[in-house]
Amino acid sequence: MKKLVLICFVCLIAGGGFIFLFNRHQKSKILAQYSEEARPSIKATKIKDYNKTLDVMASSSSYNKDHIDSYLEIEYVSQPDFPNKVETLLNKNYKPEEINKIFASLSETNVTKLLNKDYLDLNNFYQISNFDVDLYDEYIAYQKEKNLDWDKAVTYVNLHLNHNFYENIETVENPDDLLVLVNKFHALPADYEPDDLVNVGQYSYKMRKVAAESLEQLMAAAALENMNLIPFSTYRSYDYQKGLYEYYLQTDDVSVVDTYSARPGHSEHQTGLACDIRSSVLNDNLTDHDYQWMLDNSYKYGFIVRYPKGGSEITGYVEEPWHIRYIGVEHATKVHDLGITYDEYYDLYLKKS
Ligand SMILES: [Zn+2]
Repeated sequence: MKKLVLICFVCLIAGGGFIFLFNRHQKSKILAQYSEEARPSIKATKIKDYNKTLDVMASSSSYNKDHIDSYLEIEYVSQPDFPNKVETLLNKNYKPEEINKIFASLSETNVTKLLNKDYLDLNNFYQISNFDVDLYDEYIAYQKEKNLDWDKAVTYVNLHLNHNFYENIETVENPDDLLVLVNKFHALPADYEPDDLVNVGQYSYKMRKVAAESLEQLMAAAALENMNLIPFSTYRSYDYQKGLYEYYLQTDDVSVVDTYSARPGHSEHQTGLACDIRSSVLNDNLTDHDYQWMLDNSYKYGFIVRYPKGGSEITGYVEEPWHIRYIGVEHATKVHDLGITYDEYYDLYLKKS
């Protein structure tokens, strides 16, 4: 019996020693996976596995050993200044799962903006691609006021629709861009004139070359279906638009004129990419049939009906069946398929953040 106890005792000691050595071996094996700068910090912990975030954090000057548990829950992403971003967000009381969502769904620009703000509850915004951290307070106020879906509230605020039309105006920086957004909040420089204006077919009306050629194709396609579509207003200079707007003011109140005529600098006609079109010499409006054809087919030639029915709240204009705008086939097709205004499309898919 005594012998047995002794053997067991020896076994225990030997086993313990073996486990001790084995653990040490394992620990040094894991430690070896960490970068050299991280090892001194990792050595002082009870970490049993390799973790990329911990490695990166422990290698940086942002490392805080009190945050190890959080580091382990945060997925590493390759982003400039990752350790500082993680540490700053943790110090602002973001939880690891929130930080994961922030890195997964916000742009680098937005993440950087977040570092300069107090904690924000972002739960309504993670899925919204055009969310801008700087406008957070405006989204919250506008959504509350209008009771809109969050994605709409974001787009509308981005488009300045929480302000009155013609307030908060920005001058566009890219007037020559075929995709330029010109509306009541985005103005062209007064001296802007495209340098590639050409006549549309046999007409004396001018548009930018690519738009003029595409319009000719559109008119030819309509002619094949017995529609006689002709342009009646295309490129208009700033000064021409000024005269036109002031002419309307002689008969209508400004609040009325603003629903059908653009103020100078705010007309798409100044881009050389827009055209008012009619279907007979006597009629400024397209007939219903021709309008439907335009809605269904103009995108194939790169045009969109710019002020569609139901878009007034966004565009600030009454429905204008006759006003089409060239943006190229690719984008015109998408705008057509999505059934949204160009203002919304621009904010959602084209704006550079
Ligand atoms: Zn027009």
